[in-house]
Order: sequence, then C-alpha cells, then structure tokens
Amino acid sequence: MSNYVFLIDQNKTPLNPVHPAQARKLLDSGKAAVFRRYPFTLILKRIIENPNVYPLTLKIDPGSKFTGIVLVTNQGNVIWGMELQHRGQQIKDALEHRRAVRRGRRNRNTRYRKARFLNRKLNHGWLAPSLRHRVLTTETWVKRLQKFAPIGSIVQELVKFDTQVIQNPEISGTEYQQGTLHGYECREYLLEKWNRQCAYCGVKDVPLEIEHIQPKSKGGSDRISNLCLACHKCNQRKGNKDIKDFLKGKPEVLNRILKQAKAPLKDAASVNSTRWVLFNILKSFGLPVRTGTGGQTKFNRIQFDLPKAHWIDAACVGQCSAVDGFPVAGNCRSRSVSEGLTRKGVVETIKLATTKILRVKATGFGGRQRCQTDKFGYPQKHRPLRPILGFCTGDIVRADVLKGKYAGTFTARVCPMSHGYGEFVIDKKRRSIKLDYLTPVHRKDGYDYA
Ligand SMILES: [Zn+2]
Repeated sequence: MSNYVFLIDQNKTPLNPVHPAQARKLLDSGKAAVFRRYPFTLILKRIIENPNVYPLTLKIDPGSKFTGIVLVTNQGNVIWGMELQHRGQQIKDALEHRRAVRRGRRNRNTRYRKARFLNRKLNHGWLAPSLRHRVLTTETWVKRLQKFAPIGSIVQELVKFDTQVIQNPEISGTEYQQGTLHGYECREYLLEKWNRQCAYCGVKDVPLEIEHIQPKSKGGSDRISNLCLACHKCNQRKGNKDIKDFLKGKPEVLNRILKQAKAPLKDAASVNSTRWVLFNILKSFGLPVRTGTGGQTKFNRIQFDLPKAHWIDAACVGQCSAVDGFPVAGNCRSRSVSEGLTRKGVVETIKLATTKILRVKATGFGGRQRCQTDKFGYPQKHRPLRPILGFCTGDIVRADVLKGKYAGTFTARVCPMSHGYGEFVIDKKRRSIKLDYLTPVHRKDGYDYA
C-alpha cells in the first residue's frame, strides 16, 4: 500500500486525496495529469464547483534527526505519511569549517586587531542555525501540504512528558506501575532524567524498571523525586533495603543518586525549544492546533499495537479514544499542555492505509562558490552560471535517448554543462547526454526523495 495521491482541480483547489488505483484510472482516462512528482499530485482537467471535501488532520512528531508527518482522516485512517530527515549536523559542520577558515585567515592577516567579542547580541528567541533549519523545513512542508490537501487541523507533539501530570499529587501509588497514561508520562520523564540507564550499575539498552529510592515499606513516597530506574538484577538485589544499606560500599554512587533524585529535570533543551517555536509558527496558519506529549504518543502506539517508526509516532500523536479509559489523565494533561486542546477530533483507532511513505532528506542547495580550488587554494576550474538551457544542477530529469548504444529512458539527477550536455552518475558510472533529450521531472528544491 502506498501513499494516497493528492488531487487538485483546475483552479488548484485541494480535493480529497485519492487511492493510488483511482489515481491510475484518472491518469489513464486522461481526466487528470501529473502536477508534481514529490509529493505526488494530480491536477484534474476541469473545475469542480463546491467540492465536497472532508478535512484531514495533519499530525507532526518533530524529532532531532527525523520529523514524522502524516495525514489522518476523521475515521483515523492514515492515508499519507512522510519522514523528513534533517541536516542539523551538516549545518553545524559547515559553520565550524567556516569558522576555522576565518580564524586562520585573521591570524594571518589581522594579527594585531583588538579582540571583539562583547559587541554582539542575540535576538530574543534566537535559535542556532542547525536548530532553526529543523523548524523552517517542517514549516515548508506543512505549507506545501496545505496547497495539495484539505487540512482542517494540526496536531503536534509538543513536549516529551507533561510535568504537570507527573507532579500532580493526586496520582495514587499504583497508577504509574500499570499501563496508564500517567505511567507513560512518568516513564518518559524518568528515562530522560536517569539517562536511559540503570541508576545503580549504569547498564544501558536493557529493560528498566521503576524503583523506589527509599522503599515504601520504609516510609518512602510515590513522588517522582523518590523514583529512579534500575535494571531487573539491581531491582531484585535491592528489594526493600534502605538505599544507604544497599550502597554501603559505594558512597560516591549513593551521593550521585541522592543528588540526581533531588534535582528537577531541566527540559531537554534543543528538542523542546524548537518544538515551541514550531508550535507558534503552526498557530499562525489559522488552523486549530492541538498538542500531545511524548508519553501519550508512546501510550497510543502501544495501545494500537503499532511498530516503532517516526511516521507512525506522528500518527499516534495527540488524544486518541483509547485514552478515554483514563479520563483523569486525558483531562488534566490537556489543560496543562495547551489551553486549546478539546475533546473534538478524538480518533477511535489508527489504521494504516499506507505503508510505503515518502522519505525526504534535506540536502540544502549546495554552495554558491563559483571558483573551485585545489587543497592549496589555487583555482582549478570555474563553474558556469546556471541554469544552462533551462537545467540546474540537481534537477531530476527524464532522459529519452532515441538511438545509439545507450538508447532507452531513465530518470536521474542532472549536472548540466555549458557545452550543452548533461552529466549523470548512473550505477557509479558517468554518463553524458545532450540536454535536448531531457525533460524536467522535478526541479531541485533542496530535498532528496526516496
Ligand atoms: Zn543495574
């Protein structure tokens, strides 16, 4: 099952996305034409008056390396999905490279210049370029999807866990042990706080259990500050021993745990700051924006028995009716995270109507450097100004070679040359084809598609 196909009418009004089989029919009968390759969109050859569209929900799970985006119908069918791979590390590396080159140059040429560093000021709400890129690319895609699909509302995962739920003293002792929503919020919090490892022995990548630092039988409370994570072995070995007895021989471990337990967790900085910025941008689109937490996402995913993937996480963001069994959790969470969260739009189940999703990788547009140098800085060649005969480097084109050894048709990215030929790399071999034989399929837009 692949993604549903976007459909717009002649006026470019977004209509309901259609099943791939129906899209094939529309194309074969000549009623529609391909409007855009990525995301795959058809344009009808007629105008539809008063189209009967059902609004879709756009769900986003923003992550540090991948962002999952899906479109869900009111019945909970996931009809379109994508995973956007970010290039934060690439941007960071490029800036560090530039910094190193600049420092080298200034050491050579302006050695006696007075140091300047206190005359710079960051604007309020400034984000590092690598983080800002994450927000901006996600914004781009939401805007893009709005053009091709009738989006009625947006749901975004805003925070990893809801501190209000966790700190709520009304939560009784058993709730975090069983599979309730509270439990998932607490678990996410504890995983983050204790670095996803056993607090006692430091083992990683094993199932961790929630552990009372001061055992309940010795008067320990259920407050989150009295909980930590332990592997099964350590948990068993500790049993209901007092923490001071258990760690008698290891005073440094004891001190660390007691200190860490008391310290409240600072918000996981990078992810949360970008998420809030993204949230404010999404709100400016004029659509109702609802939010969810990471704990809730995980809870939904396990309730619906779905595998772990970035786009599936996106489908599980927000309130789903499986949460209804725990009304207290649902209500207090929604009020604390966002004032706008309502009961409307609750999804009964999540059904995946697609499995082959669009995988998008942010690649950037490349440099603007025209002069290519060797490693010593001597100019080697000069890149001509693009476009050449209408083609830019990185455009996806279809080549129709009519005759000769390489006769046939293929689709690839082109690097046009000023002598009128386009260069391709196909199966790691260079091929050169006259630009006259090429038809543009998708212009370079800073993303790689799979
Ligand atoms: Zn352990």
